[in-house]
This record gives sequence, C-alpha cells and structure tokens, in this order.
Amino acid sequence: MSLNVDAWTKPDQGALFIVTGASGTGKTTLVKRALSTIPNIQFSVSATTRKIREGEIDGRDYHFLDIPEFERRKDAGELLEWAQVYKNFYGTLKAPVIEALNAGESILLEIDQQGAAQVKAQMPQAISIFILPPTMASLESRLRGRNTDSDEIIARRLKEAQDQIDHCGSFDYLVINDDLESASDQFMSILVAELLKSNRRNSWVQQFVPNKE
Ligand code: 5GP
Repeated sequence: MSLNVDAWTKPDQGALFIVTGASGTGKTTLVKRALSTIPNIQFSVSATTRKIREGEIDGRDYHFLDIPEFERRKDAGELLEWAQVYKNFYGTLKAPVIEALNAGESILLEIDQQGAAQVKAQMPQAISIFILPPTMASLESRLRGRNTDSDEIIARRLKEAQDQIDHCGSFDYLVINDDLESASDQFMSILVAELLKSNRRNSWVQQFVPNKE
C-alpha cells in the first residue's frame, strides 16, 4: 500500500499523539516514516540528561541537558511529564506542546509508558499508541541481533521491555511491528483517521451545512 496523504488532513484542532514501545520494537523508524509522509504533525523534541549519541543533533533529536538544569526545569513546572529511563532522565517541555496545540498544530510525543500515563491523566483527549513486537522471543532475537550487548545487558533490556509492555492494555491502539511495511501502514492509518475526525473539523461542517436561521 502506498498511502497518499495531502494537506486536506490538517484539522482545525490539532491532535496530541503519544507513541510508546519497548526499545527494539522499531518505534523510532515508524515515527520517522509517518512524519515524512503525513504533513502538519510536529515531533516533540524531549529534554534528556543522557549522553549525546553519534549522529544525534542537540535541539533536533533531544535537548541535551545536565542533571542540575533538568532538575531546575522540572522544579519550575516546565515539564509536561518526565521519567527516569535506564539511568537517565527524560521529559517533555510543556510550553512548545501547548503553544503548538493552541495554534491548531498536531504533535507527536515518543515517550515511555510512565510519561504516557502522566500525559493521559492531564490531557485525556491525547491519543496513545503502543508498538508491540510479535512475541517476546522475537524481541530478544532483535536485541541480540544488534550484537553489541552482553547477556547481562540483554537480560536487563528484556526486563525493562516487559515493564513497558505490562501497561500496553491502557493504550488506545496497539500496533504489532512484525513486518515494517505493514506496521507502518497501520500506524499511519491511525494517525490519519484521528486527524479526519469530525470533532476536529468544525470549519468543514460550517462550510457545508448552511446556517438555517
Ligand atoms: P533513547 O535514550 O533510546 O533515545 O530513549 C530511551 C527511552 O526514553 C525510550 O523508550 C523513549 O521513548 C523514552 N523517552 C524519550 N523521550 C522521552 C520523554 O520526553 N519522556 C519520557 N517519559 N520518555 C522519553
């Protein structure tokens, strides 16, 4: 399937998407594909205290902060949500998300399940999507396939993956990433369908339904 998405999918009222999944489930690839296909959805750049990786750019992939600066922002109430993942802190800056939504833009947060729960509690209209592997065994072999990590690290990652997956039942949508092409189509279908909801498109109702008074 090749999905053709044009600017007519832009709603009056922006949508807030939350995407969560254990590491190794391919969620970053799904998100990158979707954002390059569907116009008018902005990726929310998180703040983190983890070290910058090769190929990453400060301000594009993350806002890389030291721990005191992260804590200052957290204590000042500047974060919509935050969580500790592995040994690092991650958080979503509140102001850019609120400003974009108020301007009618849609936003996508790629965050862990602790953060997803905090956002849903504050903004129940947010749409949450969990990316699952087909089986835990396939996730293990994907993690092993990277061939860089010791058995101990793989066991820890699998445990952390299971801790995320334990919460998948509270998400609005589940996408199983077995075949990347299928999962990508399914993921984009969810985003597009949500953008087309009539309750986000009041200007179209007004345009086509004559005012009888
Ligand atoms: P990585 O360090 O591999 O980029 O991300 C590790 C984990 O942190 C991923 O599960 C990712 O979804 C999560 N994460 C990234 N940004 C945020 C954030 O702003 N908030 C929360 N709660 N988790 C995040």
